[in-house]
Formats: sequence, C-alpha cells, structure tokens
Amino acid sequence: MQYVLDLFSLKGKTALVTGARTGIGQAISVGLAAAGAHVLLLGHRDNLHETKAKIEEVGGTYETVLIDLSQVDQIRTQIKPLLEKHQIDILVNNAGIVYREPAVDYSEQEWMRVVNVNLNAVFILSQEIGRGMVERGAGKIINIASLLSFQGGIFVPAYTASKHGVAGLTKSLANEWAAKGVQVNAIAPGYIDTNNTEAIRNDSKRNQAILERIPAGRWGLPEDLTGAALFLASKASDYVNGHVLVVDGGWMSR
Ligand code: NAP
Repeated sequence: MQYVLDLFSLKGKTALVTGARTGIGQAISVGLAAAGAHVLLLGHRDNLHETKAKIEEVGGTYETVLIDLSQVDQIRTQIKPLLEKHQIDILVNNAGIVYREPAVDYSEQEWMRVVNVNLNAVFILSQEIGRGMVERGAGKIINIASLLSFQGGIFVPAYTASKHGVAGLTKSLANEWAAKGVQVNAIAPGYIDTNNTEAIRNDSKRNQAILERIPAGRWGLPEDLTGAALFLASKASDYVNGHVLVVDGGWMSR
C-alpha cells in the first residue's frame, strides 16, 4: 500500500498551474496540493481566493503569481523572479480561452489572442521552465489539450488550430526531452462543466445533442480531470512520454 501511495505522492515537489482561478485549473491545483505539492497558482487577475480556500481545506500550500498570458512578449521577463525563487518540478499549462465566430467573419485580433494564450504561451512557459528540468534531468509537463486537438469543432477555428498545436507541441517536446528525464504529456478533456463551455450548455439543442453523444451520459466535472493530472505529475508516469490522455466519458470512442 505504501508503495502505491509513494508512487503518486508529490511531497517536496513544486508545481505551477496556469489558469488556476477556475474550472479545470482549479481542480488540478487542489488535487496536486492534496498530493503534497507546493502549488504556484498562476492567474491574470487578483481573484484566486476560491482556489486558495479549497487548497487550505485539503491542508495544502500555495503562492500566487499574476501574469497575463495573452501578452506573450512579457512572459519571459515576468516569470524570471519565480524561476529564481523556485525549482519548478511540474508545469501544468492549463489556461485557455475560446472565441466563437463563423470563419469568414473571424476577428484577426481574437485569432491572435486565442493562439497567444492557448499555444504561444504554452511554448514559452515550457521553454523557460523546461530548461531547468532538462538541466536537472527531471520534470513533468502537462498540457491541457482538447477533443478539438483531434476534431474540427464549430465556429472555433483559432481554438481548434491552437489545440491541434498543443498536441503537436506535446509530442515534439516529449521526443526531445524524454531522454533527459522530462516527461511531456497532455490531457484532452471532453465536455466539462466550466465557464469555457457555458455558452454551449445554455444552448438547449446543442446541450442535448452533446449529452446524447457522451456514452457516460453526463457532462464531465473539473474534478474528473484530477486523477489523470496526478498520474501525469507523479512518478507513476515516468515511462509515459508524448501521450494525449483523453478524459471524455467515452466521446471519442463513439
Ligand atoms: P475556465 O474556467 O474558463 O478556465 C480558464 C482559465 O484560464 C481561467 O482561470 C482564466 O482566468 C485563465 N485565463 C484566461 N485568460 C488568461 C490569460 N490571458 N492569462 C492567464 N490566465 C488566463 O475554463 P476551463 O474549461 O477550466 O479551461 C481550462 C482548460 O481546459 C483550457 O485550456 C480549455 O481550453 C481546456 N478545455 C476545456 C474543456 C471544457 O469542456 N471545459 C474541454 C477541453 C479543453 P479568468 O477566469 O480569471 O479569466
């Protein structure tokens, strides 16, 4: 029993989770903290109180860091003090945004914003934090991909392009860094009840169509991602490289 607990323990580890204020990022932050990691909660507005309270409830520890990941030219400078203070063992690139509009009218400004947050920031953080991991010969990077890393979606070209990019980047970094002791993997959540999907849940026809296609018969909850994240953050996944783990209630197998 102790052997199994040790395999999943994150005691003594430091994790950085982006987009930690809400939804999936919040659930993963709480899960990693409960497993013993000191969690650096990255948000872009000073309102992470709900995540902090949930971490305190499980007896975990945290710090907060405020960086706007859409301002990609500033990320390297802003992350530097954190890297001087902490050895980051686990990076969860979770922050992501969606903008819906038919492709012919799609705003170029929104395209840039979505691709900056969902893909360019993921590369910059992986590079800046991955550098130390490669030097130390150990580290875990978990990127939050999507079913739209495999499928096209409707009216979300920037989101789909960025999430296909996240899956590709995961495999590219995994190939390079596997031999250096750094595991880079991704989680592709299915339809999860968060702010990100509020608009489609409020569209009753779309909501019904989605529910009918999910073999599990329900929307996922942010907490449904905790186990997968813990697995990929821990020793339990030391021989898992470049995998995109789908957590979708069976959507992709239908
Ligand atoms: P969410 O609750 O909207 O979470 C997104 C998080 O990213 C929020 O905490 C948000 O902070 C943060 N964020 C947004 N813009 C940012 C920026 N410029 N800089 C820093 N942080 C920023 O939605 P979610 O569903 O949990 O999304 C988390 C990840 O899961 C995303 O990558 C999303 O694409 C992915 N995903 C979600 C689903 C789903 O069904 N929900 C499915 C597949 C993949 P604020 O709220 O303060 O703006």
